[in-house]
Amino acid sequence: MNFSDLGLTKELLTAIEWANYESPYPIQAEAIPALIQLKDLLGLAPTGSGKTAAYILPILQRLLPKEAPKDRFIPVLVIVPTRELAIQVAEVTENFSRFLPRKIKSMAVFGGVSINPQMMKLHGVEILIATPGRLIDLIGRNALGISRIHTLVLDEADKVLNMGFREEVEHILELLPARRQNILFSATMDEEVEVLTQKLLKNPIKIQV
Ligand code: AMP
Repeated sequence: MNFSDLGLTKELLTAIEWANYESPYPIQAEAIPALIQLKDLLGLAPTGSGKTAAYILPILQRLLPKEAPKDRFIPVLVIVPTRELAIQVAEVTENFSRFLPRKIKSMAVFGGVSINPQMMKLHGVEILIATPGRLIDLIGRNALGISRIHTLVLDEADKVLNMGFREEVEHILELLPARRQNILFSATMDEEVEVLTQKLLKNPIKIQV
């Protein structure tokens, strides 16, 4: 299996080559074609499986032909449990977008650091990677809009819930537009994650690695 078999465009294949990814990991081989077709996805996959590239590559492909937003309405939101994961996902995103024909602005926001510098950088962001608490703070300050989001990723959903962010996530979901693609990754599946997947995903493709 090659990356070129998955429906990715030339621009993305070049970026993958530059990132030195030789061939797709199983989760990427399964998830990428489904996500390009704008399906919802439930991925049971731990860290280290290659799940980040599995969702970021189709997202970049969807964004590439569009114009960058000239405001603070974010098209793609990735919700993560921790600052560490936010930074890691932002790095993977940066790594691929560096080699694309146009710059796609991504940004990680998380709590524990002052909010003002984050607020000042949100203009034109296309992929926002956020922890739930800080995201709600930013929304409350009108620092960004999430009513035009077309792609939502909930990464490490089990951890998000275990950390006590269920209400925050539900609040965020209420502010999103109804028509959107939803992607949920979790290392484990318990009742709480199950309830969330039912609420979030429409006819999802299910992948377990
Ligand atoms: P993740 O599970 O997304 O945290 O990825 C785990 C690690 O695998 C990261 O360091 C990625 O850069 C690397 N990786 C992901 N996909 C590939 C691939 N197809 N080929 C080589 N390395 C990869």
